Amino acid sequence: PQALDIEQVRRDFPALNQSVNGKPLVYLDNAASAQKPQAVLDAMDQYYRESHSNVHRGAHTLGDRATMAFEGARDTVRGFLNANSISEIVWVRGATEGINLIANGFYDRLGPEDEILISHMEHHANIVPWQMLAQKTGATLKVIAVTDEGELDQDSFREQLSERTAVFAITQVSNTLGTINPVTEMVAAAKEAGAFTVVDGAQAVPHMSVDVQALGCDFLVFSSHKVFGPTGIGVVYGREELMHEWPVYQTGGEMIHRVSFEGTSFQNSPYRFEAGTPAIAEAVGLGEAIRYLDGLGRDAIEAAEKTLQQRVNEWTADFPGLHPIGTSSNKVPVLSFTLDGLHPSDVGTLLDQQGVAIRTGHHCTMPLMERFGVPGTARASFAFYNTVEEVDTFFQGLQKIQRLFAE
Ligand code: PMP
Repeated sequence: PQALDIEQVRRDFPALNQSVNGKPLVYLDNAASAQKPQAVLDAMDQYYRESHSNVHRGAHTLGDRATMAFEGARDTVRGFLNANSISEIVWVRGATEGINLIANGFYDRLGPEDEILISHMEHHANIVPWQMLAQKTGATLKVIAVTDEGELDQDSFREQLSERTAVFAITQVSNTLGTINPVTEMVAAAKEAGAFTVVDGAQAVPHMSVDVQALGCDFLVFSSHKVFGPTGIGVVYGREELMHEWPVYQTGGEMIHRVSFEGTSFQNSPYRFEAGTPAIAEAVGLGEAIRYLDGLGRDAIEAAEKTLQQRVNEWTADFPGLHPIGTSSNKVPVLSFTLDGLHPSDVGTLLDQQGVAIRTGHHCTMPLMERFGVPGTARASFAFYNTVEEVDTFFQGLQKIQRLFAE
């Protein structure tokens, strides 16, 4: 594939071209939220300037334009995930709301004999909704162990998967460790056992192409803001056969077929899940972000990230006092670590003074922190627009901090 011209690419992202604390910004907090290309900002701006109205009520031209833009974005997402039909693509606020929507549908399906299988590396968004579901229905929450390398323990998976497993919910990529999980194989095994399968794709979509048909899952969620689109919107993919029957999540306008005081009937999917006026400009922005990524090319993006990962590996191979957490060879460029003698939040603050933005803390994965016996980590998470020089600046920044504290 055509290699990315990173300097050219960086000019597409206004937020990357600024100084912070008197230093050029080095933005390494992409797993928390990614920056936005100008094309996304322009698409949203143009939408508001020229096409804004409410959707699906078009007695007039702007209503039609808004509806076309909104539904066009839905079809762009459909193509992005290789879903079969737009009935399978539901707009939500983000991955969190998406998992809640899916879990909500299980409240009348599960009982004390059922089990919900998740893993020890899940984000709280893929733990708490299932824990609540278990508490309400009497079902049991089971947890796949994580190895010292930060991979899913496949023996633990096989031991705990059974015909009692009603739901299998798993992250495709760990936000804290960067580990890429073998979800295709695990989803296949879970389906074989008769479970519904849910994939948290929040950290996968920024780094790799995600094909829901190849994955074979029943549901998948992701958030726009991590994939270079705006905040406030995300997606639930659900298999069409399930979605038209899946329990509605919120009720009100837009999602109904017919309302009377005797009772109400609902629309088919996706509209049955979209109560009220949706995030229209945000949908347009997400559609544009996907077009932008397609323009760069998935292969070129992966190649650029591989270069960054190699540089990270060179540095971590010999860095006294630095302890990476999550050392799988199959990962996206995310480095969680501790530095001897330093609290992660101090590492974050001292890097920020040098213009380097990382995240510190538990990364919404408290059980995983407990698994590795740390209260938190510092995490540098990279995107295709980061440069090898920025990797160097980051590690040199850590060396500076170590020298400062050695004195
Ligand atoms: N799952 C994973 C793996 C995540 O990394 C995140 C965001 N940190 C979420 C779910 C939740 O996404 P959001 O906050 O956008 O709803």
